[in-house]
Amino acid sequence: MKQILVISGKGGTGKTVISGCLAVFLDNKVIVDADVDAANLYLLLHPKIKEVHKFIGGKLAEIDKEKCSQCGTCREICKFSAISKDFEIDPLFCEGCTICSYFCPESAIILKDRISGEFFISETKYGPLIHARLGIAQENSGKLVAKLRELAKNIAEENKDFIIIDGPPGVGCPVMASMTGVDLIIAVTEPTLSGIHDLERVVDLANHFKIPVKVIINKFDLNSQMSLQIEKSLKERKIEVIGKIPFSEEIVDSVKRQIPFLEYAKTYNKGLKVAENIEKIFYNALSSTF
Ligand code: SF4
Ligand code: SF4
Repeated sequence: MKQILVISGKGGTGKTVISGCLAVFLDNKVIVDADVDAANLYLLLHPKIKEVHKFIGGKLAEIDKEKCSQCGTCREICKFSAISKDFEIDPLFCEGCTICSYFCPESAIILKDRISGEFFISETKYGPLIHARLGIAQENSGKLVAKLRELAKNIAEENKDFIIIDGPPGVGCPVMASMTGVDLIIAVTEPTLSGIHDLERVVDLANHFKIPVKVIINKFDLNSQMSLQIEKSLKERKIEVIGKIPFSEEIVDSVKRQIPFLEYAKTYNKGLKVAENIEKIFYNALSSTF
């Protein structure tokens, strides 16, 4: 069983379009939407939710007013200014570090589980989808990504050949949680300055974890000069560009209609050349890696 991560470094490059295409292209897989802060793969895959689970992202302090003597120790000691002068805990500031509970002379502070979101096991016509909804302003998205991947692995280990992971943008904790232990990273970029910089950061991270990374330049024809610059920079880093995809009105239309582009092309008999190009890119990426 092989794990393939689709990643971009920045939002808006077409990463989820590529993940949706991969979900159509590959047989016998589990799909993970690891972009838990802004999940949108479900818009293309139309999952039927089978299981809903609460995500415990951390802890939240709570003061028992009956026991509290208002000594003020917790307020002095809290590094996150989470305790008001009325000894109320502000959930937006409390980091659940537990320090206040150790120093409270009345044992009036308890730490409760903080429900930070939900995660789902769903069925789609393309295979099982593991996805999540993180609550507004909730943290620990890396922990949630790790949870989703663990679930996907449990399902895939039974009889699946692939796990496809639609990764989060950036290079922070959730990206690292999506990256560890995968067999191939497909990095999707676009020919803009920020596209280049963010791609370089993702490539450096992949190199750090010693994971093969291959690059797709999406909408390459919108700035051919910049696309050449990306290719040159990647060549120097010995990173393979496995394909270039032109800007396509049909891809835009497939997103509007909420259909993975490879399915859209066959259904509506539109954008077939672009679809053929994408299939060739996948075929080459997989055959040269596995
Ligand atoms: S340390 Fe304990 S007793 Fe003192 S103010 Fe805080 S909660 Fe109340
Ligand atoms: S758990 Fe930590 S962050 Fe939360 S109120 Fe206590 S000391 Fe402050």
